Amino acid sequence: MTSVDLGFPRVPGTREGSNTPRPDHPGLLDSFGRVATDLRVSLTDRCNLRCTYCMPAEGLNWMPDEQKLDHIELMRLMRIAVEQLGVTDIRLTGGEPMLRPGLEDMVAEIVGLEPKPRLSMTTNGIGLAKRAPKLAAAGLDRINVSLDTINPETFKAITRRDKLSHVLDGMAAARDAGLSPVKVNAVLMRGINDHEAASLLQFCLDEGYHLRFIEQMPLDAQHGWNRGDMITAAEILGMLEAEFSLSPFPAKRGGAPAERWLVDGGPGDVGIIASVTRPFCAACERTRLTADGAVRSCLFSNDETDLRALVRAGADDHAIADAWRTTMWGKLAGHEINEAGFAQPIRPMSAIGG
Ligand code: SAM
Ligand code: SF4
Repeated sequence: MTSVDLGFPRVPGTREGSNTPRPDHPGLLDSFGRVATDLRVSLTDRCNLRCTYCMPAEGLNWMPDEQKLDHIELMRLMRIAVEQLGVTDIRLTGGEPMLRPGLEDMVAEIVGLEPKPRLSMTTNGIGLAKRAPKLAAAGLDRINVSLDTINPETFKAITRRDKLSHVLDGMAAARDAGLSPVKVNAVLMRGINDHEAASLLQFCLDEGYHLRFIEQMPLDAQHGWNRGDMITAAEILGMLEAEFSLSPFPAKRGGAPAERWLVDGGPGDVGIIASVTRPFCAACERTRLTADGAVRSCLFSNDETDLRALVRAGADDHAIADAWRTTMWGKLAGHEINEAGFAQPIRPMSAIGG
């Protein structure tokens, strides 16, 4: 992780404000010395699944098209991020990013930026079987596919769609197209798929996929999260250790959200993204752009900056870059899920970009 010594004490984990003036720094520096180099871009808030931990069965009031950044606006903001703000990694997400028209063209344009960013995408995998070769040819480096179960009935219960085979075919196509390593994101829910932790890992080891469990976070549109239902990292580890031998992963974690373990001596591994019980905010290097052009310094931010308004008012690149830096300077030490008085952000995960 990149960090800057600001010359004054800052204590990650406190909510001290950021009233100190922003120093002259070209990158996305915050007042704790963290520098964001990893940009998550939401391409749309729409989705073709309805995962219960994400949105209600009827879906949401999707953003009208005119509110979304168009292709040129979105490319401009990504270019500013790469050329002027030091962003080195871009991840496309949503909603479901594959629902964005012109995705393959956008991928080709992003990897044509200088210096070339590493480009990945998080997807539910629907339609990937057909599109993986085109995405790889366009220049996509890597892919994360969300898969919470390998049981068709449980998949239907969680996503409210009967499409497990589409996702499995999509993952295999991504692997065959060289979008590797294929990473798998899994959320476990009590009494629904928590008994599948070990079988999901065995499936991923057999197929050569890299599994990451994600603790369920309070980011669902229907505000249904509750701490007691969340399967914690400690529980996941316990379930895995009953079947496998886990040892600490040798490589440094850096700013990566997942803590990793080698499985049965390797080379297979497993990760846990324990945002709630083992927060990793102190090493965060992420900045986020929503499909309607808001920059956020955190998934859990309660404020955001409307870059779309600047773009549509004719602001130059310099002014946009500066507004982005100012937003990141105000990044809080951490997400505060575990603090009294925590308030879930107004935007759900699907409208921020996970
Ligand atoms: N639709 C794509 C997908 O599902 O991969 C991309 C967007 S989705 C919001 C990104 C990731 O967020 C997925 O891996 C999903 O499982 C995860 N996610 C959604 N809601 C979550 C929640 N409340 N807690 C933890 N992870 C969540
Ligand atoms: Fe759609 Fe992804 Fe949310 Fe599931 S987690 S409803 S696939 S945006």
